[in-house]
Amino acid sequence: MDLRLTDDELRFRAELADWLRTTLPDLDPRPADDDYLGLRHWEAAWQQRLYDAGYAGIHWPREFGGRGATPFEHLIYLEESQRLGAPEAGCTFVGLLHAGPTLILEATAEQNARHLDGILRGDQIWCQGFSEPGAGSDLAALSTRAIRDGDDYVVTGQKIWTSFGQVADFCELLVRTDPDAPKHRGITWLICPMDLPGIEVRPIRTASGGSEFCEVFFDEVRIPVANRVGAENDGWRVAMVTFSFERGTGFVGSLIATSRELAELAELARRVTRRGAPAWDDDSIRREIGHLQAELDALWALTKRNVSQAARTGIVGPGGSVFKLYYADVLRRMGELAQQVLGRLSIAHLDDVDALDLGGRRLRALTMGIAAGTSQIQRNIIGERVLGLPKER
Ligand SMILES: Cc1cc2nc3c(=O)[nH]c(=O)nc-3n(C[C@H](O)[C@H](O)[C@H](O)COP(=O)(O)OP(=O)(O)OC[C@H]3O[C@@H](n4cnc5c(N)ncnc54)[C@H](O)[C@@H]3O)c2cc1C
Repeated sequence: MDLRLTDDELRFRAELADWLRTTLPDLDPRPADDDYLGLRHWEAAWQQRLYDAGYAGIHWPREFGGRGATPFEHLIYLEESQRLGAPEAGCTFVGLLHAGPTLILEATAEQNARHLDGILRGDQIWCQGFSEPGAGSDLAALSTRAIRDGDDYVVTGQKIWTSFGQVADFCELLVRTDPDAPKHRGITWLICPMDLPGIEVRPIRTASGGSEFCEVFFDEVRIPVANRVGAENDGWRVAMVTFSFERGTGFVGSLIATSRELAELAELARRVTRRGAPAWDDDSIRREIGHLQAELDALWALTKRNVSQAARTGIVGPGGSVFKLYYADVLRRMGELAQQVLGRLSIAHLDDVDALDLGGRRLRALTMGIAAGTSQIQRNIIGERVLGLPKER
């Protein structure tokens, strides 16, 4: 793999940076973190601008409305967007980063015609209805039932931790269609419009104060059979395709943001005085900053490897699990480092420190070891698929 950028890639970077510099100042201010409807409209407006300028679905194939960018152009896009402060995918994340790519590989032409353009324009917001109160890590234990009745499935059950469920138009929904089959073989992947009668969405308030998670209740909801992606009872395989995207490149933007946050912490360590000396004078703090930067660089190299593998095979393999496992740990240590830098000041209110929202970052960092498969589950995947260890019983 040649890691140097070609002339075309350098030109792409310059054009994109120019466009971002002229477009971003016109953007309305970002709504508050808990204004989910406002955020939905704000993100959609940004997505429409990307669409008009030819940057929406940067890595989606051209025949599906994307830009068909090379893996390196995709990384350049993420780097420049972070560097120049473009909006990150929040409620557009599921549609753009895993539902859309799953549809491209698995859906019918008619389904794609109904959804892909809307996702790219920001008109269709998607959520993920996989987890249930009794099925998280053991997702195949899910029990939301779908009973075939004519041209519909009649769905009854409950999903939980559905991010942005309160503003979503569609849901990638896993249901049990054959309760008698072995658990992985009786599941089906459905496209569920969120405005169907019988669906109730209840936001959940979390420890960090937000309520982006929802519970979603289904009471005899009729979903057309035409909304099925893949064959009946083949939903587990389709869900694995979804996961490969979710665990693959979905966190790249956040990785770049983490490098910036580490630089902010290093800067803070130079300003903060503890026991009469700058925190920066503490060898252990400087050592940890150095280690973390080296590990972020290694994760960036791993990302390039994963992305180039995805370009060859169409999906990201277990390299996505290696990335996620390690990155979750780096984020946890960033939180501990912030605490070490600030010492007792971490419980005081200081304007310039509050602006960094270190407490909020620390709480949010914990979610990385849970979302899209916990760290223990990533270890199981790496053990079985990379190291060839015996399968978990
Ligand atoms: C920020 C965030 C966003 C999310 N968004 C969504 C969403 O939009 N849609 C959605 O469907 N879900 C979503 N989730 C839910 C997420 O997928 C689940 O929380 C996750 O899969 C873990 O399931 P659980 O919470 O039921 O924990 P459990 O599965 O009950 O796990 C509890 C503990 O047991 C451990 N454990 C369980 N099984 C094993 C095993 N076999 N080997 C070793 N250890 C094990 C786990 O690692 C964990 O530490 C989100 C979660 C987070 C944090």
